[in-house]
Amino acid sequence: MRKKVAVVFTGGTISMKVDERLAAAVPALSNEEIMSMVTNIDKVADIEVIDFGSYPSPHMSPTLIRELSKIVKDLIKRSDIDGIVITHGTDSLEETAYYLDLNINPTKPIVMVAAMRNNSELGYDGASNLSSAICTAVSNDSINKGVLIVLNNEVNSAREVTKTHTLSLDTFKSLEFGPLGIVDNDEVLFYRNIMKHEHIETDQIETSIELIKTCVGSDSNYMKFAIDHGAKGFVIEAMGRGNVPPEMISGIELAISKNIPVVIVSRCPSGRVLDSYGYLGGGKNLRDLGAIFGGNLNGQKARIKLMLALGKTKDLNEIKSIFESTFYK
Ligand code: ASP
Repeated sequence: MRKKVAVVFTGGTISMKVDERLAAAVPALSNEEIMSMVTNIDKVADIEVIDFGSYPSPHMSPTLIRELSKIVKDLIKRSDIDGIVITHGTDSLEETAYYLDLNINPTKPIVMVAAMRNNSELGYDGASNLSSAICTAVSNDSINKGVLIVLNNEVNSAREVTKTHTLSLDTFKSLEFGPLGIVDNDEVLFYRNIMKHEHIETDQIETSIELIKTCVGSDSNYMKFAIDHGAKGFVIEAMGRGNVPPEMISGIELAISKNIPVVIVSRCPSGRVLDSYGYLGGGKNLRDLGAIFGGNLNGQKARIKLMLALGKTKDLNEIKSIFESTFYK
């Protein structure tokens, strides 16, 4: 029997055109206009269009993502739906994708898709990406692989992928281990599996989480300011293997003394953090102070994970185990 795919439209460049007065791209296409460009898709699946909105992805918020997660969970429960495709802007796609990946049990394919070129540009890539995403969503091989991202004929895992280039169509990359597979015409081919799917079941999220990038001479002023203004968690993109300038230590100590989790990741584009260095501000020093290590997650994804972890528990040990007792720690 032919499969049915729910296509949830949230916005992004895939639904944009250039407004002549502004000479810049803005949301303009209706969901039906976008679907009508995906020629022959009726041969692949029945489509149910669901309108979530037409948000440029910098307009997405944790609260909107939580709403989207509920919608996807409800779609998974429907016996007539075999797979779910979600359109999204590329800018924050990896954050929404990772939130959904952590929060949803992927017993049906969940595929996110986007476009790098709007519909006024030469070579709009929205229609071909969307058809690849729908083909991926009808494949049984896409079940239990977490949330998948399909663009430019590649399939990547939400856990691993990041936007790497401001304009290239080949922008979504899993920097450490490469893509999961490809979409060749209407067929999805997986060359490797995801390693382990992590699940954080909660409807609560903590949104007051600051992401701080370290640089030469960084100090504790910003952290102290944020603590005074109600920050409930920090993710620090540390240097290299997970080290910070010594002047940041007093801010980290202050946060942990107030039961505010501090998650260390690296500002390097790939590789995991570890407590390898014993000098002041080195990873060992941070570990001894009670900082949590975020494995090879990038800063924006570690923040999403901390949002959900803090929604589930305020206990620093439990949060530490959510981050550190997984395969990816
Ligand atoms: N700025 C756009 C957005 O994220 C970019 C895109 O969709 O490609 O909404």
